[in-house]
Amino acid sequence: MSPAQLLRSGQFFVRRSLATAARPPLSALSASARAKAEQISSEWKGTSASGNNTKNFIGGEFVESKAQAWIDVVDPATQTLLTRVPETTSTEFDQAVAAASEAFKTWSRSSVLTRQRFVLELQHLLRNNADAIASSIVLEQGKTLADAHGDVLRGLQVVDTTSNIPTALLGDTIEVSKDMDTSTRRLPIGVCASIAPFNFPAMIPLWTIPMAIATGNTLIVKPSERDPGAAMIIAELCQRAGLPDGVLSVVHGTVPTVNAICDHPSIKAISFVGGDRAGKHIYERGRKSGKRVQCNMGAKNHAVLMPDANKNHALNSLIGAAFGAAGQRCMAISVAVLVGNAQSWLPELCERAKKLVVSQGFEKGADLGPVISPAAKLRIIGLIASAEEQGGVVALDGRGLEVSGYPDGNWVGPTVIEATADMRCYKEEIFGPVLIVVKADTLDDALAIINANPYGNGTAIFTQSGATARKFEREVEVGQVGINVPIPVPLPMFSWSGNKASFLGDVPFYGRSGIDFYTQNKTTTALWRAEDAIGNKASVDMPTHH
Ligand code: NAD
Repeated sequence: MSPAQLLRSGQFFVRRSLATAARPPLSALSASARAKAEQISSEWKGTSASGNNTKNFIGGEFVESKAQAWIDVVDPATQTLLTRVPETTSTEFDQAVAAASEAFKTWSRSSVLTRQRFVLELQHLLRNNADAIASSIVLEQGKTLADAHGDVLRGLQVVDTTSNIPTALLGDTIEVSKDMDTSTRRLPIGVCASIAPFNFPAMIPLWTIPMAIATGNTLIVKPSERDPGAAMIIAELCQRAGLPDGVLSVVHGTVPTVNAICDHPSIKAISFVGGDRAGKHIYERGRKSGKRVQCNMGAKNHAVLMPDANKNHALNSLIGAAFGAAGQRCMAISVAVLVGNAQSWLPELCERAKKLVVSQGFEKGADLGPVISPAAKLRIIGLIASAEEQGGVVALDGRGLEVSGYPDGNWVGPTVIEATADMRCYKEEIFGPVLIVVKADTLDDALAIINANPYGNGTAIFTQSGATARKFEREVEVGQVGINVPIPVPLPMFSWSGNKASFLGDVPFYGRSGIDFYTQNKTTTALWRAEDAIGNKASVDMPTHH
């Protein structure tokens, strides 16, 4: 059975079990997608979107892996094979760590102005090549081109902010006693590693690359095995920006590569973004071997709609945040809490959501694309079905959606389910274009629902009342709060602040916290007595050496 037939039959299949030969040919892509795929394959050394292998980037070289196991990367709109990523061998992984350790010796001693210059060059190159990165994201990940540009831009903003690195690294000095000074300097920690999820192939590697490197560390990135292209293009841009060999490496793979990162004694810190299972595993395994670890994980983000909200703004914001990127954002609104009379807005919410256009990401007018894989689609559909079984009401049903010209895509249309907090569809992260709607009588009831949820990534309230907003902001136990703002991701002059089950570790990503994560303080106390100073006046007496 072909992958397309399997998908249509609804049978679960594992990507890796499929023979490459069973995939549709490149000609299954639309003309515009094929042109982009060919352009990416010819212009970039590390990635391919026309069926060739993705390379490792080790010691400044894009090298073909000698891996035995390979993972297919497929276009989620057509199932076309775009590239294959290696399960990097242990020898190759050790080479990457050795190159990073060697490069650390000089990069950690480089002038902060050299590192700032690198950040500024990278900023310029990323801006000029944003279209290539965004196109790679559309092909491999499936989001729309406009949304993919947003993915790049949010990463670029971390680069922009890191350009102030000389100021960010300023230490403190004070004279603690006569002629005795104590000073603190922020120094890099060594070889670091960054493990990324599939949903933001550019932004999340860019949460770590500029920060780790500008602070004087070296970094090994392991992108998601489902969409490695953006990270490979970014690696090449780092090289073009003048980064010395070995300061950045990219290796690929799944659990074995991740475990090698957790266990290698030369790796001092791990940044992870992804799901709960992997995050908990990486946190425990990495901490066991003495590493600094930060893990951003799953979410269930609630938006509260108060009856006094600006209805038009609230509904449009909700729809954008729930269904944009096919609901595959860690800050997507996945639960709407309708308070009091706002409950009567449900039909209008469904009417507006129904109008969203689902299509391949390069198609004009597409609002959202496919979900990442046939397996993800089946999981999402299973969770919608579970809601029906448990007494929920599917008010808008995106199952069975067909998209003209793309019979084999992983399509799920916008779906709205009236549910209660005891149902599976409420408790589990769906990570698809599915909005759960729960009802509450009062703001206190809404707060109780949100605070009982284990996750703490993001939340939002829509209201015209400052007092209501203030009470919500103070009492909600979630780390990132939007007031009439649906996706309150902090810009990188701030730091990420998801909490509760959405985060493991002590020091969050980017901003001031990012500097803290990637540095260690050295405090020095020095005594230089004034009476021992050499006089300014030259001595003209005959030296007697006594
Ligand atoms: P994932 O956990 O499947 O994969 C993330 C990374 O971990 C990948 O590089 C993968 O190769 C690796 N990995 C997967 N399973 C592993 C295992 N068992 N052991 C070791 N490594 C493993 O996540 P995903 O599906 O790529 O991304 C979606 C998830 O990421 C969602 O849960 C989403 O909420 C979360 N996410 C969170 C944030 C945040 O900032 N909180 C941001 C983006 C995504």
